[in-house]
Amino acid sequence: MTTTPVIVVGAGPTGLLLAGDLAAAGVPVTLVEKRPHRISNLSRAFVLHARTLEQLDARALADALEAVGRPLGRLDLFGRLSLDLTALRSRFRHVLVLPQYEVEKALERRAAESGVDFRYETEVTGLSQDTDGVTVAVRGADGRPASLRGTYVVGADGMRSAVRRAAGLPFPGRSVIRSVVLADVRLAEQPEKLLTVNATGDAFAFLAPFGDGYHRVICWHRGREEADDAPVGLDEVREITRLALGRDYGMHDARWTSRFHSDERQAPAYRVGRVLLAGDAAHVHSPAGGQGMNTGLQDAANLSWKLAQVVTGHAPEALLDTYQAERHPVGRAVLRSSGGIVRLAMAGRPWTLALRAALVTVL
Ligand SMILES: Cc1cc2nc3c(=O)[nH]c(=O)nc-3n(C[C@H](O)[C@H](O)[C@H](O)COP(=O)(O)OP(=O)(O)OC[C@H]3O[C@@H](n4cnc5c(N)ncnc54)[C@H](O)[C@@H]3O)c2cc1C
Repeated sequence: MTTTPVIVVGAGPTGLLLAGDLAAAGVPVTLVEKRPHRISNLSRAFVLHARTLEQLDARALADALEAVGRPLGRLDLFGRLSLDLTALRSRFRHVLVLPQYEVEKALERRAAESGVDFRYETEVTGLSQDTDGVTVAVRGADGRPASLRGTYVVGADGMRSAVRRAAGLPFPGRSVIRSVVLADVRLAEQPEKLLTVNATGDAFAFLAPFGDGYHRVICWHRGREEADDAPVGLDEVREITRLALGRDYGMHDARWTSRFHSDERQAPAYRVGRVLLAGDAAHVHSPAGGQGMNTGLQDAANLSWKLAQVVTGHAPEALLDTYQAERHPVGRAVLRSSGGIVRLAMAGRPWTLALRAALVTVL
């Protein structure tokens, strides 16, 4: 069996950036993805932050994304909080609003052009490591088991990471919010702002444009605790949106709806020998603050050059330990800050409402 220097598992944004960086540095890399080859228009993330844009700029990808997305220099939250991003000391003094699939398309194109060996419809089912490398058990489209061999393996395979499980790492944490409703709808009345968000204590709602005539609605109501697979009706979305935003913008024609719960979890280690974790495989948190994809992309940017240096013999393996040292605290901080936003948005009792008002005033 031939050994590839690096096997990356998962072709989400984290895996695509990591694999693209390695290939661009001349390191042979295999990218294993269980999905068929298609990028869905059902997006999760909507926001790229300035630091991520800088990372993408270093890879000559930012200008094309800036041409597709819409910059937002001021964030208005909860009717009281306003963040002026134009004071940032960056070429990018804004967040860029664009669907996650646009980022994935750009990263996938770059990875393919750099020579990444893509293996779609290939699911990782387990792995074992020894002193020289890692043997990865996979199942292809025909359902037959096979194996791949890599000197290093990176699990960028999302929240339910098979790599994390196979490496024996727990994923401690808890669910912070249940029954969050997602709907992709058309709006009869266009919102005044690019991103619209508000929370009343009993309900919150967020609206963001896809740029193709549809808006994503993310909303939640304290009184509704449904299972993730409970059907979502447009009337429910309208009602919660009215409670949180005062109106429902005449939403109609839902092309997709879903319900999910949001967890806060982090792996205690991002590296076990020759196996590393990045992105949602290493940490998950609430979507509040729009940090998940951004944090994963920055994990990938931190890890890729280190792996390239180590596998080409230009740096000792100990360099990989700096990945954990640098990125684990960032993941923990993002868990705290996004969790804080959710708890404040959900605050229903008078003292928490007062705290929110005080915080908003201080900020
Ligand atoms: C409603 C919502 C809104 C969000 N908004 C934002 C936002 O505005 N900004 C932001 O930064 N983040 C946001 N996020 C979070 C963001 O979407 C995720 O953090 C991001 O997708 C993580 O990327 P990833 O590449 O690490 O993992 P994923 O995108 O989950 O990709 C993992 C990949 O691994 C593949 N895979 C899984 N298991 C296997 C296996 N065994 N074998 C092979 N392949 C496998 C999967 O098919 C998938 O393609 C949001 C999330 C949600 C739910």
